[in-house]
This record gives sequence, C-alpha cells and structure tokens, in this order.
Amino acid sequence: MPSRLSSAAQKDLLDGIVLRCQSFERKGGAPPLVVFDLDGTLMDNRPRTVAIMRELADAWETRDPSLALKLKTASPDDLLYLFGDSLRKMGISKPDLVAEGEAFWKERFFRDPHLVHDVALAGSVSFARDLYAAGATLVYLTGRDLPLMGIGTFQSLRDLGFPIGVAGTEFILKPDAAMPDEEFKRTLAPQLTRVGHVVAAFDNEPGNCNVFLDAYPTCTSVLVDTQMMPGPPPLSNRAHVIADFSR
Ligand SMILES: [Mg+2]
Repeated sequence: MPSRLSSAAQKDLLDGIVLRCQSFERKGGAPPLVVFDLDGTLMDNRPRTVAIMRELADAWETRDPSLALKLKTASPDDLLYLFGDSLRKMGISKPDLVAEGEAFWKERFFRDPHLVHDVALAGSVSFARDLYAAGATLVYLTGRDLPLMGIGTFQSLRDLGFPIGVAGTEFILKPDAAMPDEEFKRTLAPQLTRVGHVVAAFDNEPGNCNVFLDAYPTCTSVLVDTQMMPGPPPLSNRAHVIADFSR
C-alpha cells in the first residue's frame, strides 16, 4: 500500500483538489464531481458502536455486572473492525454470548436511530464546504442502504454541517442492505457520468478506491486511512493515502 502522506503533503493534495474544481472547464456544462464515502471516510462511526455497547451493558447488567462494566467503559479506540472481535478483545469468549452481542449490535448499527452518534472526521466538513463553494458537485456514495438508513443519514449529514439538500449535491445509497458494498460501487460508479466529471473520490476501503481508478483512470483516488475491512485487496499504487481531512 502506498504510504500515508505527511501532513504538509496531505494539505497540498486536498487544497489542490479544491483548486482543480475551482478552475474546472465545464465541457458541455458537466460539473466537476467529488465522490465521498461516509463511514470511516467523512464520518467516524465508532461512537455509534460505543453507544450500542452501553445499551448492551444495560441489557447484560444483571447477568454479568463485571462484563457490563467493561462494555460501559469502552472507548472508540478500544474497538476492532468487527464487533465480535471487539467483544473477544474484552475477554468475552463464550461463542453464544458473542453471537448474542453481535445480533444486538447488528439490529441497531444498520438502522436510522443510532446514526445520530456519528461524528465528522477531522477537517471533513470544512473540506466538503470548500469544495462546494469552489463549484464541485458533491456525491455522497455510501454502502448504507436506503430503506433502513436513508432518513437517518440525511439527518446526520445535515446536522454535522455537510452541504446536503441543495443544488449540487447527490445522495446515493444502496438499494438493498444485502448487496456487498464493493459490488454496489462498481456497478454505480460508471453511472456518475450522467451527473458530471469525477475529479476525485475518497473512501476508507482499498477495493472501493481501486473501483474509482478503474472507472475513471484520470481521477484522484484517495484512501482515508481509518478503519478497513479485514483482508482488503491491495491498494493501487496510483491512489493516495491520508489520515483525515486536516489542512
Ligand atoms: Mg466506508
């Protein structure tokens, strides 16, 4: 994987994308597009899991007070990518208990109400706003699904201060939660030509970053190095790697 840019190089890369959108020559009226994934890219969703852990602690309180205390005091940095792995790291080893915890998490994590716990990644709101002001159309392209997470996601983007619900923004979700994210993005990416010209794309999954380089070889594809699914494919060496959106 290409190595993470220094903070100075990260600033140059991000500022350069804003400038490119500003000076973009619209051929036939097509606007410059910047595509953003949400979870692990514009937003940190680990506080959502922490909130669910607190609820799980309440549910397990009488059964196992010491376990409940561990769940209650966990912080985002204690979490591993998979919820079951986070439980095992806390010393919960009984498979039936892990399975019960995973089911509890799954019923809540992929639903509208808990999205209120998500926070913006450092610098992401001001970067999105600067791009928007520079004339870019922002495309929020997420693996969240429309039926169960559409309303909460719209609300979260609005409340965190991202441009949304205005001309020059697109909000695209998966039609069905069961579809794998990478397959969804691979199918969807070519359709963005009906919206404009993809200048840059940001994602925290190497496979999705590669999808954009395959569909739009001249775009700037950027991996936001937060969390990623275990066992990712190798990231193209044409992609850039940043820690967050600080400039
Ligand atoms: Mg993501």
